[in-house]
Amino acid sequence: MFEEIIKSTKVSQFKEWLSSEKSFVIIGHIGPDGDAVGSSLGLWHLLQSLGKKAQVVMPNSFPNFLEWMPGSEHIVFFDSDKAAATQFINNADVICLLDFNTLSRIGDMGEVVEQAKAKKVMVDHHLDPDDNCDITISYSQIASTSELIFRLIYQLGYVDKISKEGAECIYTGMMTDTGSFTYNSNHKDIYTIISMLLEKGIDKDSIYRKVNHTYSESRLKLMGHILSKMKVYPTHTALLTLTAKEQENFNYIKGDSEGFVNIPLSVKGMVCSCFLREETEPVMIKVSLRSVGTFPCNKMAAEFFNGGGHLNASGGEFFGTMEEAIEQFEKAIEKYKPLLLEKE
Ligand code: 5GP
Ligand code: MN
Repeated sequence: MFEEIIKSTKVSQFKEWLSSEKSFVIIGHIGPDGDAVGSSLGLWHLLQSLGKKAQVVMPNSFPNFLEWMPGSEHIVFFDSDKAAATQFINNADVICLLDFNTLSRIGDMGEVVEQAKAKKVMVDHHLDPDDNCDITISYSQIASTSELIFRLIYQLGYVDKISKEGAECIYTGMMTDTGSFTYNSNHKDIYTIISMLLEKGIDKDSIYRKVNHTYSESRLKLMGHILSKMKVYPTHTALLTLTAKEQENFNYIKGDSEGFVNIPLSVKGMVCSCFLREETEPVMIKVSLRSVGTFPCNKMAAEFFNGGGHLNASGGEFFGTMEEAIEQFEKAIEKYKPLLLEKE
């Protein structure tokens, strides 16, 4: 049906675990997004179908617009239920690390995972994965970890074991990591996979609405506020900022600014967009970067904001005030000026 890109030795090793091991724990990254939750629950539903003991454990909670996802009600969170989360991790035979490439992306939970006796498999699509898992399924050319989970299930020969619920979760991750198939989504296999998921009975139009049309009134007002003070630079770059004080004024709740960083890219000719959001625990500025075309915003994130990510979607952290973070961003775009001014 499509090219089987996952090395067959890795697939058969995982298949062996599926028959020899009993208890599986699945983990996604801190601040789980649609792909982290989608891939985790996609694999969880498969393990359910195979009659395995399986538990999804996340470092912290996910945005409200993912709450509808089937199985999400069984997820355990390390930040609010450390004892239970630790027990699951310590008792697991196999730990599946999904949608992140290094243990530092799961915060304090990283130490618990590192010390756990379980065999470990990583399934991910970020560059430069750590080399500390027994099986590493890492392909940065693939648009989402959820797509990789589908590919893994396909290569295992278990497509018939995917339930409608599992298909919904996999589709959600594929959709959210490609901006609803508007970037990073030109590979024809994506659509072969979607057609196989549709055969499971998913309603993709309804999933789109459940994920994207769930704005609260306060989010929309916050969006208006942030956009009205958007700064645009001559280097085809835009900057959005959100201070802690503004969050208070707009009754900000986690997830309210999800996706804001993409909006400036709808301006004709815009190449790069940056969103700086002040966080209080710990105190820092969370940086989100997006780009179109070949502009490597992951390089900018690594060089200026201690971060990384993908060519067109990256992020990082800045320890300092909002004003200093803005200065740092302005330094970054000055340095990258020649690339930013290149025609697509
Ligand atoms: P977002 O802007 O949605 O928070 O993150 C977009 C992408 O940037 C993520 O999928 C991840 O690859 C990367 N990313 C975000 N924050 C960080 C960070 O603090 N460090 C690193 N290395 N990558 C990040
Ligand atoms: Mn992802």
